[in-house]
Amino acid sequence: MTTMAHRLPQKRHLVTELPGPRSSSLTVRRRAAVAPAVGSAAPVYAVDADGGVVIDVDGNSLIDLGSGIAVTTVGASNPAVADAVAAQAHQFTHTCFMVTPYEGYVAVAEKLNELTPGDHEKRTVLFNSGAEAVENAVKIARLATGRDAVVAFDHAYHGRTNLTMALTAKTMPYKHNFGPFAPEVYRMPMSYPYRDPLAADGVAAADRAISMMDKQISADSLAAVIVEPIQGEGGFIVPAPGFLPTLAQWCRANRVVFIADEVQSGFCRTGDWFACDHEGVIPDLVTMAKGIAGGMPLSAVTGRAELMDAVHPGGLGGTYGGNPVACAAALAAIDQMTTLDLPARARQIGELILSSLSATAASLANDGRDVIGDIRGRGAMVAVELVRPGTTEPDPELAKAAAAHAFSRGVIVLTCGTFGNILRLLPPLAIDDELLREGLDIIGEALAAD
Ligand SMILES: *Cc1c(COP(=O)(O)O)cnc(C)c1O
Repeated sequence: MTTMAHRLPQKRHLVTELPGPRSSSLTVRRRAAVAPAVGSAAPVYAVDADGGVVIDVDGNSLIDLGSGIAVTTVGASNPAVADAVAAQAHQFTHTCFMVTPYEGYVAVAEKLNELTPGDHEKRTVLFNSGAEAVENAVKIARLATGRDAVVAFDHAYHGRTNLTMALTAKTMPYKHNFGPFAPEVYRMPMSYPYRDPLAADGVAAADRAISMMDKQISADSLAAVIVEPIQGEGGFIVPAPGFLPTLAQWCRANRVVFIADEVQSGFCRTGDWFACDHEGVIPDLVTMAKGIAGGMPLSAVTGRAELMDAVHPGGLGGTYGGNPVACAAALAAIDQMTTLDLPARARQIGELILSSLSATAASLANDGRDVIGDIRGRGAMVAVELVRPGTTEPDPELAKAAAAHAFSRGVIVLTCGTFGNILRLLPPLAIDDELLREGLDIIGEALAAD
């Protein structure tokens, strides 16, 4: 494993209060021009970013612990990605794969067929966003099985389009008053070990969901089960061991398509190429996006050849799907992940985060502030679940206040969770240890202060 060289100094450095005057004046312009429905977690306006830092218009250098929501895994300006993007843009930016195809698309498909779990024969189709990949995975599963019903889980997040809103669990802000939603979507209980004692046994939790599916739907009407192997927006929920393999096995036995939504957990994030790899789970279809292309918009569905080949010619596609610039970026990003052994780097980062958070939890508890209910995750996808001291009652106000405190000190940290009480850490794998430690120390201070 080689460490990454950086163009910008890897230092937190604040020259104004946050947000500074230039960011604040951009916020005024934004209010008049941009729909308020789109929020921003850390409202400073970026001008540069590299490794673990984001530079804003006022010249502040912030520590990035969010990677633009798990996207800039190889860094936000990885030179290999930047060079590939520039070279491709100088050749051609678009022809449309459905009009005049190009090698980059084929090469990305070959890579994904090789990297995704399982050594069966696979095919890939490329899109632009995670939601679009999920929509298409469901289309493929329905066509291939000739069945309608789709099962998703409590705390699931699958996107903001109509079908993916239906699959998503949480109403506010994702679904509220945006219905009616796509039909034939059923929701089953997840394995959430911290909040559901039964679910601490993954096999028992899967059996509970399977028995409900049998009763409410019956397997011969069920096209697909879709699950995030580690839930993202829902709270970095890691299902208990046995949950995913038991579900996958039941799906296989009942000819139900098992879809792993690896949009957030994929591409080295969890310390392996995919989160399914940790338990040797082999999904029928995998959806991917976020970390895939060093920040360029690209998404994919990779799956069993017999399912993918069932769809009629012209049945899948899109004007921009598998854009050549995004494909060049993906090939460069994947090459960086391989040559720098970023799965190993994610595991190292995970150990560093866990040891820092455990120390924080111990020192808070020592001061009679046992607000950390749970620390969980895998690799560089780790969360702290915040509760009112001595209870398991969610404390969303503390999560919000701690994130705001960290931001005011120049650390970008995201919240998540069905109850909004979770701080999630998703640093770029290009961050160095010293900067990461400093960011984690500030999070510790934020939790002690608020
Ligand atoms: C972010 C996310 C999506 C949606 O991806 P977009 O690119 O925002 O459409 C779908 N599934 C999971 C698990 C995600 O984390």
